[in-house]
Amino acid sequence: MKVLVINSGSSSIKYQLIDMSDESVMVSGLVERIGEEVGSLTSKTFPGTDREVKTEIERPIPTHGVGLEMSIDLICKGENAVCAMDEIDVVGHRVVAGGEKFNVPVVITDDMWPDLTETERLAPLHNPANLGGAKDAIKLFPGVPQVLVFDTAFHQTIPPHAFMYALPYEYYEEDHIRRYGAHGTSHKYVANECARLMGKPVEEMNIITIHMGNGASMSAVKNGLCADTSMGLTPLEGLVMGTRSGDVDPAVHNYLAVNRGLDIAAIDNILHKESGLKGLCGMNDMRDIHAAVEKGDERAKLALDVQTYRTRKYIGSYMAVLGRVDAVVFTAGIGENDDIVRAKTIEGLEPFGMKIDPEVNGTRSKEARLISTADSAVAIWVIPTNEELAIAREAMALVK
Ligand code: ADP
Repeated sequence: MKVLVINSGSSSIKYQLIDMSDESVMVSGLVERIGEEVGSLTSKTFPGTDREVKTEIERPIPTHGVGLEMSIDLICKGENAVCAMDEIDVVGHRVVAGGEKFNVPVVITDDMWPDLTETERLAPLHNPANLGGAKDAIKLFPGVPQVLVFDTAFHQTIPPHAFMYALPYEYYEEDHIRRYGAHGTSHKYVANECARLMGKPVEEMNIITIHMGNGASMSAVKNGLCADTSMGLTPLEGLVMGTRSGDVDPAVHNYLAVNRGLDIAAIDNILHKESGLKGLCGMNDMRDIHAAVEKGDERAKLALDVQTYRTRKYIGSYMAVLGRVDAVVFTAGIGENDDIVRAKTIEGLEPFGMKIDPEVNGTRSKEARLISTADSAVAIWVIPTNEELAIAREAMALVK
């Protein structure tokens, strides 16, 4: 069985063709700068193997539909084709927000579209593009099952006392305002991987998962199910991110409006795009921040301190949520690669049984690895996430 996984963003499409017989990646590609003067398509067949062939195309790519068609042409036609179109059995799509209705993956049927379109207001930056990708794929692959895998689905087990905001109740009933979380596919994947690596059923494990990339979120996973997560109605709440503020006093909105005469749209833009690490020190890539700290940049140091302190504070609160913590897992761009952030985050948590081994933590690797000391009561792991594989597995399971 071959599954094509599509992650369609606002101006990009990431895709992978996965052979489910051995879960190997046959093709991985990225279409970027859709709608701009010149777009690009980079595609690799059998990436990371000695059969890898890289193709790069630069030309205008006016729409996502055109980008997807170009990608499929590379996969199925021409000299580096890896399979025929009718060999693709399922297409799986990443969708950021599913609301309460879409709490499990679904095979798209025509009657779902009104409800799917409703979800767009929960993630206006992501969902229209995610669902647009599905519409394009339906045209290109008539008759092939199209599965939507929602980032919020894993968080639908969060109980009401954790997902409700203390707002007038009708905003929940009528406007559906509540905590939905995001990155759920990744949290679920690394929690399951952690259980597998520790040789225990995930149903018997309590795990704190930390997905820290440009966007960042944490989950408290109790007996294998999500009990709480740091992102909220939208992916703005919670941890300090590349350009997103994470938690702020909600009164900041009014304060900025009154003091700076900013309107809601401008404030929203600042909180999403001009805040977080970038707001604090002007840089949103952690690698640049470390380089600046080395040179004595005080703001860069502050940004690192604020970011790691916030994460540590969430670990403390999730210890309270879980009662017993078996493992902490770091994943995504920063979580997988940044030993300094990991060490600073766990620093001070030794009395709670969390101890990092500096030597193992400092050793670079692309593999999953245990970075806690032998006498650490809580196992601390670095586990590379693989959202594409997780989506492919969900899609295949559903169609089978
Ligand atoms: P997203 O999917 O949210 O865009 P990623 O999970 O790919 O993000 O993470 C991207 C971020 O990871 C970068 O912005 C950078 O801050 C960080 N990052 C990537 N590589 C490294 C590294 N070697 N050391 C520290 N940080 C890194």
